[in-house]
Amino acid sequence: MKITCVVGARPQFIKLAPFLSKCKKIGHKIRTIHTGQHYDKNMSDVFFDELGLDKPNRNLEIGPASQTEQIAKIMLGLEQDLEDNEPDWVVVFGDTTSTIAASIVASKMGIRLAHIEAGLRSFNRDMPEEINRIVSDHVSDLLFVPSSTGMTNLVNEGLEKRAVKTGDLMADVLFHFKDKLSDNIVSQYNLKKEEYYLLTLHRPASVDNIEMLDWMIKQVIAINEKIIFPVHPRTKLKLENNEYTDENLLVIPPQGYLDFQSLIFNSKGVLTDSGGIQKEAYLWKKPCYTLRTETEWTETIKTGWNNLVIPGEDNLLDIIDKWKTPNDHPSLYGDGRAADKIIFEMENRI
Ligand code: UDP
Repeated sequence: MKITCVVGARPQFIKLAPFLSKCKKIGHKIRTIHTGQHYDKNMSDVFFDELGLDKPNRNLEIGPASQTEQIAKIMLGLEQDLEDNEPDWVVVFGDTTSTIAASIVASKMGIRLAHIEAGLRSFNRDMPEEINRIVSDHVSDLLFVPSSTGMTNLVNEGLEKRAVKTGDLMADVLFHFKDKLSDNIVSQYNLKKEEYYLLTLHRPASVDNIEMLDWMIKQVIAINEKIIFPVHPRTKLKLENNEYTDENLLVIPPQGYLDFQSLIFNSKGVLTDSGGIQKEAYLWKKPCYTLRTETEWTETIKTGWNNLVIPGEDNLLDIIDKWKTPNDHPSLYGDGRAADKIIFEMENRI
């Protein structure tokens, strides 16, 4: 098969890795288009290097711009590339601007489209990601769904005939690299194992509103524990106007995949508004506190490993104090072989 994969943001490079490596082993011809949505070294190149990804065949270099401008640039660049290369499939991942743009182009050009990490819903249309997911799911020919919750959502939207539950590519990556982690990052920052929390914040709803960001940082400081905070570029820009000089809060640059996994693995718990990190906290059996009003990964809440901390309302410290390790830890995201299942289905639909 000739497959064009479109990626542009950090979590997409990570999901691409197991898919690409399996496709290469089988001998499928893969072309990777990087849209340039995330472009700096810490947010992009490091993942290509660490995860053994070949350099993208093309970079559309869209850079920072409004979502509409980014979508328009991706659509024009991609249309030309697809005309020149005529793939059997276009593959998109997750719920970013790159996902929605590539989905529209492939479907308009009549090229088979596969959406990996389909079926997720927050039921909050104020989130740009929610619109991206809905559009991509509805125009895709094949929907690869990581969780049972995702399948239920697609059944409710009448999309189940095109949907296959495969497990999650993020579990594939994590299981693959599990034994390759080092503790260096923990000693580099003078952290003690299981004696710090890991914090990430990057969603527009958390960081674009300065009052909300301020609430979150103050809640985090109030738990009075060591916090390590690899800061996303979007958040860094917002934090530049504020000074948080708490001795427990250690702000560091975004980390590569392996060091970041090590930071989760060695932590006491995770404080985040990220989607992927909620799942990784679950896979590493760490308590997660999700600073959002809702989550797409509701199964992590139901099993008791994840806790919503409603911004502006809840008290993080109270929620942390109430947390008890659940007895069960069911397998929610598959057995680490999602890539095999995805490729098998694509081969059978050609
Ligand atoms: N991640 C990373 N380094 C960091 C922060 C996150 O490698 O400093 C990884 C994390 O392990 C997960 C992914 O990036 O696999 C999540 O990306 P992000 O939170 O940006 O996006 P989301 O999952 O919310 O779409």
